[in-house]
Amino acid sequence: MEILKLTALEIREKLINKEITALEITETYLDEIKKDKNSLNAYITLDEEGAISSAKKLDEKVKNGKKLGKLAGLPIGIKDNISTKGLKTTCGSEFLKDYIPPFNASLIKTIKEEDGIILGKNNLDEFAMGSSTESSYYGVTRNPLAIDKVAGGSSGGSAASVAGNQAILSVGTDTGGSVRQPASFCNLVGIKPTYGTISKFGVVPMANSMDQVGVFGRNVKDAAMFLDVLMKYDKNDSTSYMDTGKILRNLDLNEEVDLKGVKIGIPREFLKWECDEGIKLRFREGIEILKSLGAEIHELDMPYLEYGNACYHVLSTAEASSNLARFDGIRYGHRTENYEDLDELYTNSRTETFGFEAKRRITFGTYLLTGEEREKYYIKSLKVRRLIKEDFERAFKEYDLLVSPTTPNLPYDIGIESNGTKSMYDGDKFTIPVNLAGLPAITVPSGKVDGLPTGIQIIGNMYDEMSLIKAALAFEGGIKNGI
Ligand code: GLN
Repeated sequence: MEILKLTALEIREKLINKEITALEITETYLDEIKKDKNSLNAYITLDEEGAISSAKKLDEKVKNGKKLGKLAGLPIGIKDNISTKGLKTTCGSEFLKDYIPPFNASLIKTIKEEDGIILGKNNLDEFAMGSSTESSYYGVTRNPLAIDKVAGGSSGGSAASVAGNQAILSVGTDTGGSVRQPASFCNLVGIKPTYGTISKFGVVPMANSMDQVGVFGRNVKDAAMFLDVLMKYDKNDSTSYMDTGKILRNLDLNEEVDLKGVKIGIPREFLKWECDEGIKLRFREGIEILKSLGAEIHELDMPYLEYGNACYHVLSTAEASSNLARFDGIRYGHRTENYEDLDELYTNSRTETFGFEAKRRITFGTYLLTGEEREKYYIKSLKVRRLIKEDFERAFKEYDLLVSPTTPNLPYDIGIESNGTKSMYDGDKFTIPVNLAGLPAITVPSGKVDGLPTGIQIIGNMYDEMSLIKAALAFEGGIKNGI
């Protein structure tokens, strides 16, 4: 049996039926990571010992006929900005090179309770700032589909691990597109659920008002199942949504879905923006698939979307500058040896080990919160954010779902973003407005251009993950059947 070819749902079933053991599954995946045939560099830290020991315990459970969790036997990668007890959590930064958290993030506890096997910690852009994983102190992650190209970011390692057979599922974080963009670049399904539906307790914040944990899978069913497990109210997270348990309560992944009567809108603004011609073509074909599945599709105006990027970069850097103040050389991570007083201790610890992008954002964000600039930029952006949110609210009065390409560009060559010739800020323009409004969105593979993957983004109304997943299932089926 080719273990690497099995879906997450199949692995669990075969484990329950005693056709394979958790140890076989885990060792198969660990071998792939250790060989790392294409030098993907998808992991910063591997937890071989932890994974093997979890697998053995699980096999005991199977042997003793105990009830198995929903993630039983599934090898999972975790973005390295999520706290894991006793296992290094670096955030892709030199600053946290040796930091070992004394506690587990709530979502890690959930994965363990559900018998998932955590393989290790996935590479990411430093503190989740970036779109290519090139700002990681631990080196770039390669795209398993085209190894000279980036895997996307900031959750590039999480995406590459699932696409490159080094995990069956993985967890990422998405502040402006960091799950959906790498998922699209690696031909995967990526889901960023509604703000507050997966606990962020123990997740290192970048821009809290937009940060959201999301999931990666090789198909919609796997990703939706994983999402269902992780969406859970958590009293330790003040932004956690109380009724999370109700969102996917009636989800039936085996139901035949069509889109009859579903109203889908395409924001005209999205169509006007610069976008790769091949991606546009795949998107138009995707629209035809949705139509043939029964959806009713119209264009609509959402005039404030245009300001999404500017608004995001003001708010996210302002929040990041404040969040990163906790890395002061005293409480966590690196402490300089070169200081005479407290100010120097702070300054030198940070200067010595923060990378360029982190410094750029801290500097810019601090400026935006200082003196008169605060009113001019920060407060103004909060107002613009409200207008963008209202654009979506109007849209969802008329439409069930909205669609766009996930990214305006195909996976690009390693190096062109970090040397400044490619603007990383442009690549998230379709995904950013979703975070500003706190909405759920999914990316589903929508065909290739010159061998490189593209994705269609489906956006839902608050807490309507159900419609999102149904549409994604239908679309994925439509593509497979060549509708
Ligand atoms: N690429 C975006 C940025 O650099 C998004 C990052 C993210 O979602 N964490 O800000």
